[in-house]
Amino acid sequence: MTQCVFVHDEEKWQRCAAFHGHVCPGLALGYAASCLAMEKLRETDRAEDEQLVAVVENDACFADAVQVLTGCTFGKGNFFHKDHGKIALTLFSRRSGRGVRVALKGDVLAQNPEHVELLRKMMSGQADEAERVRFQEIHTQRAQEILNTDPEDLFQAAAVNGPTPERARMEPSKPCSRCGEPAMPSKMVAGPSGSLCRGCAENSQREQS
Ligand SMILES: [Zn+2]
Ligand SMILES: [Zn+2]
Repeated sequence: MTQCVFVHDEEKWQRCAAFHGHVCPGLALGYAASCLAMEKLRETDRAEDEQLVAVVENDACFADAVQVLTGCTFGKGNFFHKDHGKIALTLFSRRSGRGVRVALKGDVLAQNPEHVELLRKMMSGQADEAERVRFQEIHTQRAQEILNTDPEDLFQAAAVNGPTPERARMEPSKPCSRCGEPAMPSKMVAGPSGSLCRGCAENSQREQS
């Protein structure tokens, strides 16, 4: 496999950080994975429309960098989440019909025991001010280390031959027969006196039980 000609683009990274709200290792991994996947598909621009489709396997910081860099967003319907808790991204190009999955290699991110211990304290609310500052320091340092590494060394990339996920649905809404709020018909449930939105369908089920 050819080596990724990776050039860190500070402007792109800053856009990720601004969207996400802070700098962290997860965001840096999302940045690296997106750069590598785009490079493998020879895609240079983020999707303005639905040219690209992304499937992420976690719903953490990683996912925000993917949305910024690939232009696949939750709202456009070309951004999908598989709840696998893995640091992996599959990117499809509708233009070329190609797809690639990039997944973090098993042995590249050695745990830093101090980082792990501080994280535990932070999560349980036991960290004092000095520990919080130290945690942030290591956290930022790790993000920087990831940014300084060639994504090819962090992730393995493999071509995906499966079908590209379907395009986002667009359909006119119709009112729910119970609450009257407009909803997409394909997401509604048939009820005794007309279609129900899923919220009302859940409520009526609860009432009946
Ligand atoms: Zn984060
Ligand atoms: Zn309703």
